[in-house]
Amino acid sequence: MTEKIMCYTCETERAVELKERKETVTIKGKEVEFTAVSYRCTVCGDDFETPEQMDANLEAAREAYALRYETFSPDELVALRSSYNASQKAFGLLLGFGELTMNSYEKGSIPTSTNRLLIKLASDPYCFRKMYDVNKSRIGETQRKRIETSTGFQETKHWERMDAVYHTLTADERRSVERRTTG
Ligand SMILES: [Zn+2]
Repeated sequence: MTEKIMCYTCETERAVELKERKETVTIKGKEVEFTAVSYRCTVCGDDFETPEQMDANLEAAREAYALRYETFSPDELVALRSSYNASQKAFGLLLGFGELTMNSYEKGSIPTSTNRLLIKLASDPYCFRKMYDVNKSRIGETQRKRIETSTGFQETKHWERMDAVYHTLTADERRSVERRTTG
């Protein structure tokens, strides 16, 4: 089946070939290589990209950057999970993954973009605490005890106290605190 696409050189719809090429772009000062797609007109031989292909190429570049520079290594994942003293299974369930997902990531599988985001959020103890509150019913009592006494989890206790203190302040006192924290 040949697709017919508008070729702006020929100024009419033409049969096209799908082309893939390696391209290097610089994102945030770092070079990444990705596979870009385009069409080649079978009549005039010109290459062009449709708006959909431009979007797809941009997304492919972003994804290549994320995989190269924003992913978590197995060691980093183990360190993060250990800071909450959680088992692979419990940590995965708290983040909304399947039971075996963390195991595969810690063995070197690359997390999906959504899961990378969840892992990034979980590396902030306050976000992890929120995830924990939502999903703790999915894990057992022993795991809950281990996590609640972990260093990472204990950090959130300070915020709880600060939050409680904040609510006892007058409007003027709050403004004064806010000025100090932003100053
Ligand atoms: Zn053409």
